[in-house]
Parts: sequence; structure tokens; C-alpha cells
Amino acid sequence: VPLAPGDSATFTFSLGVQQPALRAAGFDESLAANGSFLINTRIFPWPGFNRGYEVDDSYERRRLGLPVPAPADRVALSWITFETTVSTSGDQLAIAPGTLEREWEQGGRRYFHYRSGAPMVNWFAFASARYAVKKVVHDGVAIEVYYHPAHSANIDRMIAATATSLDLFGAGFGPYPHPELRIVEVPSTWQMGAAVAFPGTIFFVEDRGFLTDARDSSRLDIVTRRVAHEVAHEWWGMQLSPAAAPGATMLVESFAKYGEQRVLAATHGEGMVEELMSYDQDRYLSGRTGAEESEVPLTPGHRRIVALLRQGWRGHERAAGTGGTGGARSVTPAVAAGAWRARWPRHHRRLPRHPA
Ligand SMILES: [Zn+2]
Repeated sequence: VPLAPGDSATFTFSLGVQQPALRAAGFDESLAANGSFLINTRIFPWPGFNRGYEVDDSYERRRLGLPVPAPADRVALSWITFETTVSTSGDQLAIAPGTLEREWEQGGRRYFHYRSGAPMVNWFAFASARYAVKKVVHDGVAIEVYYHPAHSANIDRMIAATATSLDLFGAGFGPYPHPELRIVEVPSTWQMGAAVAFPGTIFFVEDRGFLTDARDSSRLDIVTRRVAHEVAHEWWGMQLSPAAAPGATMLVESFAKYGEQRVLAATHGEGMVEELMSYDQDRYLSGRTGAEESEVPLTPGHRRIVALLRQGWRGHERAAGTGGTGGARSVTPAVAAGAWRARWPRHHRRLPRHPA
């Protein structure tokens, strides 16, 4: 029976992971005996066309006779309601989006039932490991850090950065939509960059946050910077999900970069923002060294806000938000607040929300 518009259906599937006994490289360590990290876009069936699987290497596209660069620089995520029950080994904690409604044990395994009270973008992950937990309630939001028990050095700094970020972004952009915000440590074998934000949950690679030596107060506080960046994505990316169109990366990454500046200034003073600028300038210039395509200015009238659209190297795009040829001071509090208010037209306050 064909599915009518607006209709729904139940889709049942089971999934297994097969690990070949021998291989030279490209090990999949997302599922391991002492911990697992599974991202929905990689493990779940994806009905319809997934733009994220398009060839994005420009040389390869030329070779295949495809238009260069690829038509859009990111995938517009749909909005979902979310509820899940996860079971895991008896000695592990399982994490998923939403509020933990119930937790129980059965047959030597632990079960966790999560439900998200607010609509969220279709971008989520499951993690399970032998975590230690530190929890602080800040202004009604439970800040929870899940970490390897031996990796506790930066946890208070991460919690403080999360609290400052929630305060500043909540005041500047609008309320944080979930009752909790989790920061979850994952091993460095999961090569996804330093950290990644999902609705209400931020995953940090162990050596890019938890194990960073942040004791020298004269240096750029990159732990606070990374936390602020990812918490900013709880607005820019998780609440605002741009259309797959030129400029999408700027809406998400440049404003997250702006968030870093405000949190660092609030924590260490405006001088630290200068440190951040030169740090980002270096990242931007080294990113350009390997760039295959020329920079695409956002619009002729906004040349100072340069977003490197359609480039594969994402650190490059992010750095363009503050550093580079001078995105630096273009994002001001007024620009950020204005962009947030304009994120979708008033008559579209409800779904869908994919501003372009
Ligand atoms: Zn980012």
C-alpha cells in the first residue's frame, strides 16, 4: 500500500556489526567491549536520498564528470520527536538524547529509557561505557559530565564553561530547550574531530578536552573554547537547522565561533579574545594551504563574513567565522541576535524551520 502524504508507518529492522578478523586499516571501533558510540546517520537505515553520501572530493567529482563543487555544503536535517530504550552491559551506562525517564536491570543487563520533550533535529547518537558522572544543576538545567574515572582533571572547567555558555546564549538567543545538557567523553579512536554536538548532548574526544593540559593561564583556554563552541551549537545547528543552501555553514559555524568569543571574554576578559583571533587566523591560513577551491564570499555585501562553503575541510570553515580575511569583528552581538530572531519567519514559528 503506498504511503499517503502525512501518513505514518512502522519500520522494524535489526542490525549487526561484522568485524573482519584481519584488516590493514580502517578499523571500526564504534562497538567495543568496554564502550560503544553509535551515530544514527551511520547505523540506521536512511529512507530516500542522502545527500551526505555524495562525492565531495572535487578532483573525484571532475573525474566523474560531476558539477564542481557539490551543490550544497550540508544536509538539512528534519525535525523529529524522540523516545528510545537502550540496553547495555551490566557495568555500563547508556546515553541517548532526552530525559532519562526510567532505568532498570534485567537478566544482568541495564536498561535506560530516554524521551525528548522538545522536537529535535534528526541527528543523535548512543554511547555506552563504564562512565563516572558529575552532575551540577545550573539555573534549572542539569549539566552532566560522563567521563572515564581517570580523566577528571578538566571537569570543573568544562562545567563552568557550560554554565557560562548557557547563561550568555540563553540571554542572547533564547531559552535552552532541554532540562539537561550532557558532556560525554569518547575515545580518541573515534575520529570525528574534537567534539560534536547533538541535541542536549555533546561528545568530546578524550584527548581534545578531557586530557588537555589547561593549567597555564597565560595561554588560550582551549577547553573553555571548545565547550563554548559546542554549547553554541545547541542553538546554532540544533535549534536552527539551515536549508541545504550556500551560507548554511556560516549560520551554524560562524555563530558558534562568535559564542566562543563571548564565553572566553566573560571568563578571562577581552584579552583572551585576541588570543583566540590569532589562533583562528593560524588555523584559517594553514587550512587555506590545503584548500582545493577558492573561497566563496557569502554575498558581495558581506565580504568580511567569509564562509568557506563547500570545502571538505571543516576546521577551515569554522576558522573562517572569526579569523581569516576578517570575519573577525563582523559578527557582533547585534548581528548574532538579529540573525537568531530572523532564523525563520514569524508565520513559520513552528516546523519546518530551515532558514536559508
Ligand atoms: Zn562547530
